[in-house]
Amino acid sequence: MNRRILMTYDLVIIGSGPAGLAAAIYAARAELSFVVLEKDGVSGGQVLLTYEVNNYPGFKNISGFDLAQALRDHAESLGSSFVTCEVTGITRERDKTFHITCEDGTEYVSRSVIAATGANHKTLGIPGEEELTGSGVSYCATCDGAFFKKKTVAVVGGGDTAFEDALYLSRLCEKVYIIHRRSLFRATGSLVSLARRTQNIEFLTDAVPKEIVGTDGSVSSVILKSTRTGEETGLDISGIFIAIGMNPNSSLFSQITECNKEGFIITSSDCSTQMPGLYAAGDVRTKDLRQIVTAVSDGAVAVSSLVKYLSD
Ligand code: NAP
Repeated sequence: MNRRILMTYDLVIIGSGPAGLAAAIYAARAELSFVVLEKDGVSGGQVLLTYEVNNYPGFKNISGFDLAQALRDHAESLGSSFVTCEVTGITRERDKTFHITCEDGTEYVSRSVIAATGANHKTLGIPGEEELTGSGVSYCATCDGAFFKKKTVAVVGGGDTAFEDALYLSRLCEKVYIIHRRSLFRATGSLVSLARRTQNIEFLTDAVPKEIVGTDGSVSSVILKSTRTGEETGLDISGIFIAIGMNPNSSLFSQITECNKEGFIITSSDCSTQMPGLYAAGDVRTKDLRQIVTAVSDGAVAVSSLVKYLSD
C-alpha cells in the first residue's frame, strides 16, 4: 500500500548504527523534527557483530549488543522516532527539500539528511570465515587485538589497513604474519619499511587463504595456497584479521553527491557533503579512523553543522 507522508521534517537520519543514533540524540536535544529510518528494524549496525567492545571510553568492557541497546535507549528516551524502511531512492528538489522513498512506497520529505548507512568489510568468502567470525576471525585489529595477547595471528591484505593492523598487533602478539596475494604492496612505503624492520612480523607473499580451520569453536590454522605454484600449506594461528578493504553503503547517495573512487562519501570536517543539506556520518564517509568513537563523534558534528544550515 502506498502512502505519502506530507509532513516536512527538519532532518531524516538514514541508518541507526552509532553515527545515526548519536545524531538522533543530538537532533532531539536541538529540538529538531526528525525521524530515523532503519533498514531492518534493528539498531547498532556493525557494533552488533562485535562480541566485546573495550575501546569505547567510559566502558572498560561491554558487549556490542549492550552498547547498541544503550545508544538506542538513550535516543528513544529523548523522543526519537524510528521507522523500519529500506530506502530505495533520494532526490533533492528545486525547493531544496530531499524526498526519500522507501521500498513500501512511503515518501519522507526533509530539509536535511544525514547519511549514516555505514560500510561492510569485504570478506574473503572462504570456508570457515563466516562460521568463525567473532571466534578468531576479525575485521578490526584495534577492536579485537587485545584478545590475542602473546598469541600468533595473521593479517590478510597488502594495503595501509593491513600494515597498520599488523604493526598494531605486533605490539600485542608474539608473532604476526602478513599474508598477501602479490609480492608488491599497495600500502605506503614507510609502513612497509616499518613492518620489515619489526622483528615479530613475517611476510607470506604470493599466497591467499583457502580455508580457515577451527578447533573447538576457535581458529587453529589457515590453509594457504600459493598464487604462483598452487601449492597448499597449513599455518598454525590463533586469530586472523582480514583487511582487504571496505564496501561503503553509499550507492543511494552517489547520484546526488560526490564519492571518492572507493565509494566513500566525500565530506568536510563538519560532515557536510558537496550537496547542501546532505551530511554524512560514520563509516560511509571519507575519514582516517573508522571506530565507534569516531562514528558517534560524526553524528554530533553533523547535527551541529546542519542546525546552522537550517537556520541560514
Ligand atoms: P586497499 O588499499 O583497497 O587494500 C586492500 C588490500 O587487500 C590490497 O592489498 C588487495 O590486494 C588486498 N585484497 C583485496 N581483495 C582481496 C582478496 N579477495 N583476497 C586477498 N587479498 C585481497 O584497502 P585498505 O588497506 O583498507 O585501504 C583503503 C583506503 O583507506 C586506502 O586508500 C588507504 O590508503 C586508506 N587508509 C588510510 C589510512 C591512513 O591514512 N592512516 C589507514 C588505512 C587505510 P592487491 O594489492 O593485490 O589489490
